[in-house]
Amino acid sequence: MSSDQLPNSSISATIDFNADGVQHGFLQLPYSSDRSAWGSIMIPICQIKHGHGPTALLTGGNHGDEYEGPTSLLKLANWLDETQVQGRVIIVPMMNQPAFEAGSRTSPIDAGNMNRAFPGHPCGTLTERIADYFNRILVPMCDYALDIHSGGKTLDLVPFAAAHRLENKTQEQTCINGALLFGAPYTLLMVDIDATQLYDTAVESQGKVFVTTELRGGGTTTPCSMAIADRGLQNFLKFTGIIAGEPDLPQATKLLEMKGASCYHVSQDQGVLELMVAIGEHVKHGDLLASVHNRHRTGAPASHYYAEMSGIVLGRRHAPLTEIGDVIMVLASVLGGAKDYQP
Ligand SMILES: [Zn+2]
Repeated sequence: MSSDQLPNSSISATIDFNADGVQHGFLQLPYSSDRSAWGSIMIPICQIKHGHGPTALLTGGNHGDEYEGPTSLLKLANWLDETQVQGRVIIVPMMNQPAFEAGSRTSPIDAGNMNRAFPGHPCGTLTERIADYFNRILVPMCDYALDIHSGGKTLDLVPFAAAHRLENKTQEQTCINGALLFGAPYTLLMVDIDATQLYDTAVESQGKVFVTTELRGGGTTTPCSMAIADRGLQNFLKFTGIIAGEPDLPQATKLLEMKGASCYHVSQDQGVLELMVAIGEHVKHGDLLASVHNRHRTGAPASHYYAEMSGIVLGRRHAPLTEIGDVIMVLASVLGGAKDYQP
């Protein structure tokens, strides 16, 4: 069944996407539960529109335990008005609202991971229905999309904006420019472990300009990570031309690249994790990165994990309790300053 043969989405918006001005409303997703027979999940949405111009779709809470995006987007929705906008800004601070409400990465209702649920389905689980609404309604309306992630409770990463390598080099260059102008301390050319069901891929496959971020993690925010998010949101809107002004770039961003699966260092043991290097540190191929200690008995030797490449520590497992298959460290290659970038 092609996407144009799919049934209509059961989600309805309480705002008018064609109306100028500021609107605060909801994406209403019917959900019949023990607690509320004819109830709905209400996903907050805000639109600021003024005249003709491009549309930017700004999202957070794709994963429910990442807080820079929702917090910064809630703030933006409260101060941005139509006099500052030429075009349209659509803000969804908590994409996976049930997961955000539970403070968990995935939805407590259907265990859905929003960023593994695309393109979604109008008759699927609640998470798949939200994904389908984005894929068929919101993303086609936009020219630019920014999805703010952080590491959540289990990961901590250096703060970066990222773009993917794309077949369309014109689209790729524009995405990379958007990531650079977000103005995070790091900018990453990104490779995902499995891109097939990502929101990122759904947006990019529709030819849109897409930027994503990781702005620290550990299931909290810091004053520094919030400042990066707040500044980055405004910088992104300046990059799109929807709000006026030049991006505020207080420092040169460091350009990083993930060249393949060898970036990811995966635990082959269960235990408690000890890290020898911190995020942002430079490591050489063969350096000791981490040990996993047997947590069930004394007298057992630890397992050691060594760098499979030289580079910078992009991210680390935040939660010390580690199972077989957990990513314990991610390394990235250093490409130098932004001026070094060649498409
Ligand atoms: Zn995330």
